[in-house]
Amino acid sequence: MKSFKIAVLPGDGIGPEVMAEARRVLSAVEAKFSLQFELTEARVGGIAIDVDGKALPEETVRVCRESDAILFGSVGGPKWESLPPNEQPERAALLPLRKLFGLFANLRPGICFPKLTHASPVKESIVAGGFDVLCVRELTGGLYFGQPKYCREEDGDVIAVDTMVYKKSEIERIAHVAFKAAQGRRKLLTSIDKANVLENSVLWRKTVIEIGKQYPEVTLQHLYVDNAAMQLVKNPKGFDVILAENLFGDILSDEMAMITGSLGMLPSASLGLQETATGRFGLFEPSGGTAPDIAGKGIANPIAQILSVAMMLRYALGEPAAADAIDAAVLKVIDDGLRTGDIWSEGTRRIGTKEMGEAIAAAI
Ligand code: NAD
Repeated sequence: MKSFKIAVLPGDGIGPEVMAEARRVLSAVEAKFSLQFELTEARVGGIAIDVDGKALPEETVRVCRESDAILFGSVGGPKWESLPPNEQPERAALLPLRKLFGLFANLRPGICFPKLTHASPVKESIVAGGFDVLCVRELTGGLYFGQPKYCREEDGDVIAVDTMVYKKSEIERIAHVAFKAAQGRRKLLTSIDKANVLENSVLWRKTVIEIGKQYPEVTLQHLYVDNAAMQLVKNPKGFDVILAENLFGDILSDEMAMITGSLGMLPSASLGLQETATGRFGLFEPSGGTAPDIAGKGIANPIAQILSVAMMLRYALGEPAAADAIDAAVLKVIDDGLRTGDIWSEGTRRIGTKEMGEAIAAAI
């Protein structure tokens, strides 16, 4: 029997509520696929500030280091918003985790479920039947981190400088992640750049083409980022995997999530430098936050957290069949008309967090 160690970091707000349902689904997967999960819970975010004095205690880092993957809830809330920015839960917990584990690849699926297309802000004729796009965003390079970076007075004016830097090796490693993801999907990779004006993009395109030769079964196409932004709204079904550098990926992945109409149902993965026998070490979490407005009421939608479990099985633990089973179970409960309040519509059945978790676990 294969066994995996998982660090479980529920965090704040609805985090612990939706995490309980993710754990329920993991138990169902354990039984069905003869896997064994050793789950260790640790504090992170506001709760850790309250109990341990900081958002990412050493004990939590230790638990993460000793695990095969991190299953993360979300952190933050009104209680900690008056702290200095550097001590606030998101910044003081997530950024150090990214740094500690070299989380360079951000995977964000944009899934529009066939039965939830009415929630999309885009015309029904465009989203009919739903769509499933995966955005692979480089997370540790580019404009956000390049040096020099400053804003100062010069010659009687004020000048702000950000620097866009990419090394070939950084492009190569993110390209491999994207091509591998495409291999397991519909085998179409769209690489985003602005090669008509940016030196960075010229290197990006050249490098992606080179790496693509190692993945002959994946069709590679290139789009300028401005055109990609338009094509995503016009025909989201025309995409399978999108590969983008940090800034372009930040913007396009948000656009894509918005087009799905179910922002609160989307998971995400941040994969690290460390390659293992089964995939890559990573942190798996919902795209949304702690939803303080509904925390403690038992009505939060656990699907984003549950789909994060599926991503963990797929990308870190090398268990695609178990991941597929979770994806299929989520699709089934949606098809069966079960809905938490955030996705409820006339003619469907409104249920709470726990009932949704139970229904998905039962469908597995
Ligand atoms: P949010 O995503 O928490 O909430 C936005 C809206 O979406 C709210 O109305 C909320 O009720 C709803 N929502 C979100 N998730 C839901 C779910 N699973 N089920 C049903 N409804 C859901 O964003 P926000 O209000 O901007 O942020 C709240 C707190 O979360 C802040 O403290 C913020 O810093 C933090 N946050 C944390 C993370 C993270 O941990 N990665 C990410 C984003 C925001």
